[in-house]
Amino acid sequence: MSVLIRLKSPKTAYEILEEVHKKDLSAKPATIYRALDFLCTNGFAHRIETDNTYLACDGQENPHVAQFLICLKCKQAIEFHSHQATTEISKRAKKEGFKITEEILEAKGFCQNCR
Ligand SMILES: [Zn+2]
Ligand SMILES: [Zn+2]
Repeated sequence: MSVLIRLKSPKTAYEILEEVHKKDLSAKPATIYRALDFLCTNGFAHRIETDNTYLACDGQENPHVAQFLICLKCKQAIEFHSHQATTEISKRAKKEGFKITEEILEAKGFCQNCR
């Protein structure tokens, strides 16, 4: 999935499939989804839940919880890892007896260039 690794901005599975098709016409959507699934599970890529897009990880230890700042104009996603935010959420969940299965932290707005 070198295509995804090159992705600097988030792309939908369909857009990724189109990219892959430029090199390999036999690629099937199911193959793409399976590959994306694998990459996300292993922390090589992230799924932006609110946009249903995929983005290559910026190369942290895998797997990890990532937070995103997403620009509404240029669509770039800035990945960051806030240990503090994650700790705060899990502390609260523990207090409430809540079991977290998925943790999503995505903020939308405009980046420095698009403001
Ligand atoms: Zn990451
Ligand atoms: Zn922007």
